[in-house]
Amino acid sequence: MLVVMKQQATPEQIDAVVADIEKKGCTARPIPGGERVAIGVLHNKGALEASHFLALPGVKEAIPVTKPYKLVSREFKPEETIIKIGDVVIGGGHFNMIAGPCAVESEQQAITIARAVRSSGAHMFRGGAFKPRTSPYSFQGLGEEGLKILSKVREETGLPVVTEALDHEVFDIVEEYADVVQIGARNMQNYTLLRRAGRSKKPVLLKRGLSATIEEWLMAAEYILEGGNSEVILCERGVRTFAHHSRNTLDLSAILVVCKESHLPVIVDPSHATGRRDQVIPMSRAAVAAGVHGLMVEVHHAPDEALSDGPQSLYPEQFDSLCTQIESIRKAF
Ligand code: PEP
Ligand code: MN
Repeated sequence: MLVVMKQQATPEQIDAVVADIEKKGCTARPIPGGERVAIGVLHNKGALEASHFLALPGVKEAIPVTKPYKLVSREFKPEETIIKIGDVVIGGGHFNMIAGPCAVESEQQAITIARAVRSSGAHMFRGGAFKPRTSPYSFQGLGEEGLKILSKVREETGLPVVTEALDHEVFDIVEEYADVVQIGARNMQNYTLLRRAGRSKKPVLLKRGLSATIEEWLMAAEYILEGGNSEVILCERGVRTFAHHSRNTLDLSAILVVCKESHLPVIVDPSHATGRRDQVIPMSRAAVAAGVHGLMVEVHHAPDEALSDGPQSLYPEQFDSLCTQIESIRKAF
């Protein structure tokens, strides 16, 4: 249930509605934004009667929310969520390019790539320090050393950094170094990790699970908002299908549905979605045409020598060209 107060409702009337909700054993959650004052009712055991709330002084509307996700929904909050990370603004009419290698391999590698992507117009730098790898024999990331390198990249280039917290154990340290904490596809339904992210002061980039429905994805985001962190960026990174012509299948129509259902910003990762360098630029163009708030792209100056995901990493010149192409597409729309 969403209780919308009248424009002229007094603070006492608002407090009385909150107290009434809590007396029922539910949680009252003020919904930020816009002109209106709205209070979300969470944790109700059964259905609530709209008429009960409508009878309280100062209440304009009591809207039953039918969807299982509440805080992430447009029903609760119609205005788009805007997230500020230093000078970078994500969401609404803003568009952001996040770029960098799959994994941080060395200081020199990270700085070289960061300088290149920044000069092409990237707004943030990505790079994994803790890597979720299918094989325990593959490069697992530099760990804390990788995080320190990311700090140097930020100092050197001014770019905020996005990096993954692979589990609950490393969340604290990742949060300390990162500007945005990524939760990877394999962890989308790791509920203890989602709860930890909900207590974080840092924005969270939540990737869609390998075979997650949109509802499951939004429910995962709901965990983070329910925990108190309203700064979540959703990232579509392709889902697993029967197709072998690409690593995953980029689900472009999911973007449209998620943007309709949720106020959270949505970006696309064309690199993991396709797994192939020759598909990354065309699918990025398609995602931008579909209306995403940003892209997260893997770039490597020497992809043949990359310790992970070389075949899907763009060369810096290709990334530069992509940025120019995206500009024209955005202008055209
Ligand atoms: C990544 O972005 O480095 C990554 C591992 O992606 P995903 O979780 O989408 O597979
Ligand atoms: Mn990767």
